[in-house]
Amino acid sequence: MKIIPSLEKLKTELIARGLKPTFQRLKVLEYLKQNKTHPTAEIIYEHLSRKIPTMSITTIYNTLNIFLKKGLLSAITITGKEIRYDYNSSPHHHFLCTHCGRIIDINLTCPYTDGKKKVIAGHRIEEVHGYFKGICKDCLKKEAKQKKSNNV
Ligand SMILES: [Zn+2]
Ligand SMILES: [Zn+2]
Repeated sequence: MKIIPSLEKLKTELIARGLKPTFQRLKVLEYLKQNKTHPTAEIIYEHLSRKIPTMSITTIYNTLNIFLKKGLLSAITITGKEIRYDYNSSPHHHFLCTHCGRIIDINLTCPYTDGKKKVIAGHRIEEVHGYFKGICKDCLKKEAKQKKSNNV
């Protein structure tokens, strides 16, 4: 189910973080809340500039950076070659499918993501990112089907 956040709610969220609720910021936040696919800045730009011709890639970068600073977003660097953005709903880990490239949310209860443990080996934790890599269940299914048909 796609949750469509109301503009008023988005505005309140930006103001609560000390950000001016500009039209561009509202649109970027709305996109990230609706698309939990961990998009890159380029993907966000591609989608938004289609409907909003005045939206520039620089505005997207600036908006994402300020959102990161204010803790609205997380930057995911699991692929090692690009930054993917994630709206901070609740702390979670990520699984990268090395076959189809999808990044899937993994909700794992652990005392570090829950915020119960704030110190590790004497170091204060500020962020926790768990990265898992492998083959996703959809790709595994396809692989199994292919093997079956190859055997016939
Ligand atoms: Zn996959
Ligand atoms: Zn995520």
